Amino acid sequence: MAIYRLRASLALTREGSGAAVVVDQPLSRVVRLGETDAKLVSALQQGAKPAELKSRCQLDDRELTLRLSGLARLYLLQGKRAQRRIVLQAERQAFANQCEHPAAGEPIEWPLGRDPPRHACQGTGTCCGATFLGPLNPADVVRVQSLTFGSRLRDGQVQRLGHALQAPDLFETIDMSGKTYTGMARGDDGRCRSQGDDQLCDIHREHGSQAKPVACRLFPLRFHRSPRGVHVSLLLACDGYDRARSAAGPWEAREAEVRALLQQEAPTVRLQLPLQWAPGIPVTTEQWFTLRQQLYALEPDAADAHGWLAAILPWAAQRIAGQATELCEGDHVQVAADFSASIAALGQPQQLYDADACDQAVAALDERAVQLQAGRQSADADRLRDLAAALSAQQQGQSWRTGFAVEPQARRHLSDIVSNDIAAFVAIGHLDAGLAAVVRRVLLAEALTCVLAQRSGRSTVTGADTTRALHVVYRSEPDLAALAHCTAIATSVQ
Ligand code: SF4
Repeated sequence: MAIYRLRASLALTREGSGAAVVVDQPLSRVVRLGETDAKLVSALQQGAKPAELKSRCQLDDRELTLRLSGLARLYLLQGKRAQRRIVLQAERQAFANQCEHPAAGEPIEWPLGRDPPRHACQGTGTCCGATFLGPLNPADVVRVQSLTFGSRLRDGQVQRLGHALQAPDLFETIDMSGKTYTGMARGDDGRCRSQGDDQLCDIHREHGSQAKPVACRLFPLRFHRSPRGVHVSLLLACDGYDRARSAAGPWEAREAEVRALLQQEAPTVRLQLPLQWAPGIPVTTEQWFTLRQQLYALEPDAADAHGWLAAILPWAAQRIAGQATELCEGDHVQVAADFSASIAALGQPQQLYDADACDQAVAALDERAVQLQAGRQSADADRLRDLAAALSAQQQGQSWRTGFAVEPQARRHLSDIVSNDIAAFVAIGHLDAGLAAVVRRVLLAEALTCVLAQRSGRSTVTGADTTRALHVVYRSEPDLAALAHCTAIATSVQ
């Protein structure tokens, strides 16, 4: 029977409010505990064995396993897991120091995969119809305010504004997490007021691309910063995506543009170091980059998102299971990743979400669509209706296997999700959550293409269907966030 010990360097104490906290100097943090965990930690400090832990904390075997696993995930128990995490603190600090330097001077890593998605602006104006057109940085605000433009205002705006755009018609603000962000003002239709009837930007037309806000020039590029530099990927929400692949030149030709955006403080998401295969299973960045290379090496010859994910998931599961075993403190600790629900959902997408939660989400989306329509924000209303229809279709098991022919371009687009997102999703969380998110995105986009094809009376899914599906799915992350909690995909053993 294993004996569990608290790390020697930890101090259990009480805050002024009376809450129990563990002061963890090596990891530069304070961990707040509930009363049962505080009792358990105190008993562990006193060297109690599992039987004693159960009696002193009034826990049955299952509850003891849950709580000890939780403490292990937090790296509070003595053992290889905590040792590895402490060693990786140096890597975390080194990266924090590296991030003190401008991202524009870092090496650039272009999209990965055999034939990664590419992009060249097709002037569709997709970037100008988002729910929020920002955030603008202070230099954007000063520059845009200094300009006069808007000679081609759309019908309805001409009457209302009656003059070229100038502050205060230019900006709107939103409050989020106690902060106020500025974006370009949108008209009643939800589109940027600086956009003309032809979908093109008046700032761009009258003052050149460089005069536009950084957020506008950035779209649909996405930047993630790692110890290796800046990784570039795409928000596959651009309506010109269909046409962009053939129109685009090599990624490397965009280096000057990307560096200029970084110099002007384009948002860059930082990797959360140390990286983890799953919560409580830490990994060096070098290990992650090696594994990532192996995930891309599993890409099938023909574009096939399902086939690729079906190869990745069991492979990653096996790899993580090995790590979990190596780090395990004893029988009562279960820290692992479980991809079984993701794997099952590839064959039966209706298994992905809890049915009741999904029905509620569909009803809420439809209700919000009605409100947006009433507010004349028809583009957003259409997006939410499509999202609701996609969720319903997924609940009914709709997929390309349920009687649809699929154009090669559509297959390529769905495979682009995997190629584009593996690197990026994992960069902002842990590997198991990142892969689960890729699965959710692929299945939802697929279900929506079935809806779109049916609406048009077709039994063939086209590239235009996948383009619309990607637009809806990539634009709807905030709308899907709540539903992610209702997924059957577990990210750790409970
Ligand atoms: S400023 Fe120009 S590019 Fe930016 S959202 Fe408005 S119209 Fe689009």
